[in-house]
Amino acid sequence: MSANRNADCVVVGASFAGLACALALARAGVRVTIAEKKTDPGEKLHTTGILVRDVVDAVPILQGLPLALVKRVDAVRLYAPNLSSVDLAAPGYYFLATDTPALLRWLADRAVQAGAELRCGTLFRGAQPIAGGFDLGKPLGRTSFLVGADGPASRVAKALGLGQNRQFLAGIEHEYWGAQLAQPEYLHCFIDRRLMPGYIGWMVQGVHGVQVGLARRLRGPGAADVKSAMAGLLAKAAPVADFRGVAVNSIRAGLIPCGGLVRPLARRRALLVGDAAGLVSPVTAGGIHTALTHGLAAGGAVADFLGGRSADPQREFVRTYPRFRIKRLLRFGFDHFQADWVFNLALASAPMRWAAGRIYFHQRAVVLESPAETRRLEPR
Ligand SMILES: Cc1cc2nc3c(=O)[nH]c(=O)nc-3n(C[C@H](O)[C@H](O)[C@H](O)COP(=O)(O)OP(=O)(O)OC[C@H]3O[C@@H](n4cnc5c(N)ncnc54)[C@H](O)[C@@H]3O)c2cc1C
Repeated sequence: MSANRNADCVVVGASFAGLACALALARAGVRVTIAEKKTDPGEKLHTTGILVRDVVDAVPILQGLPLALVKRVDAVRLYAPNLSSVDLAAPGYYFLATDTPALLRWLADRAVQAGAELRCGTLFRGAQPIAGGFDLGKPLGRTSFLVGADGPASRVAKALGLGQNRQFLAGIEHEYWGAQLAQPEYLHCFIDRRLMPGYIGWMVQGVHGVQVGLARRLRGPGAADVKSAMAGLLAKAAPVADFRGVAVNSIRAGLIPCGGLVRPLARRRALLVGDAAGLVSPVTAGGIHTALTHGLAAGGAVADFLGGRSADPQREFVRTYPRFRIKRLLRFGFDHFQADWVFNLALASAPMRWAAGRIYFHQRAVVLESPAETRRLEPR
């Protein structure tokens, strides 16, 4: 394709939302260009990349995902601040840790094979409304439709006067390549209000080693000091696996929007999807599932509009995005009433298990150990 050819649709961002959207557009025969500022979709990631089982079942573009790119994790071991823990699982339900750089490259290849043009090293700078679309300037040129899939601090949203995320968690993760957990079948999750206010810390056996990370509220004094919090988490999690003083191979860090959908989500001939739209669960902070699902659906809606089969997606389509009403309430509760003593006392209680089951498994979880057997690890 020549550098100056105009696309019917430009998608900004070659991550989960953008690649899913572009794939759906290309499959529908739309000339679509993906503009990605990085030189490779798999570089400089800011995600752990854990998928829940539902995603693999429900998102058709993940069919055929090479097994080498994933590692199955069957259950959750949830640690209270005092390191007592319960194990949670749900029948037939599991998580997949992923080789996320390779997964994104695999998705990008699928989009390109379907006919999308992927332009890496291409920064979206701004958009000028013109008759029938937008002028994005050089090198992207004109387009009939613009999709902002450019993450939590969306420049597309800003340029078009669309809604922007205002509430965030700050996340950081260390990767220890080649490391092995003693109990790799668990996603180890740590609750501690001092270290991780508003969220949790985690440790998981990934495809190439162990990933240890945390997210915390991005508000209040010292709230953004994720590095000190990470040192605290490494010390806290040492009885599970001790990575203190171990050289870190890679660090992933970024913002997680947790305030729900932005407003407005769309305007004539433009819409937002994925983190740019605030499509992240305010409770679990997981956004890959929604980025993929709604990215695909957005691609279909834009293709229908460009093909004259439906009205501009701003009218109907963006109303299909989840509103996270209950999850926003839960986030409010966690933000304002999180107390370590409650988890220390009641981690294995029935209401806590019910809540944890809903959050981790979207259903009632089976507790693998009875409360009487709840373990207590001693801090090292
Ligand atoms: C530490 C951490 C861990 C997480 N772990 C998980 C997890 O395990 N499971 C889960 O479901 N969710 C997780 N999330 C959330 C998840 O990563 C996001 O919800 C998901 O990546 C959203 O995908 P997206 O395509 O909308 O945006 P992003 O993944 O943010 O991608 C945006 C893309 O747009 C590109 N871009 C940005 N601006 C421009 C521009 N101006 N021009 C061109 N390109 C641009 C970026 O380079 C990037 O490639 C985590 C988040 C963090 C921060």
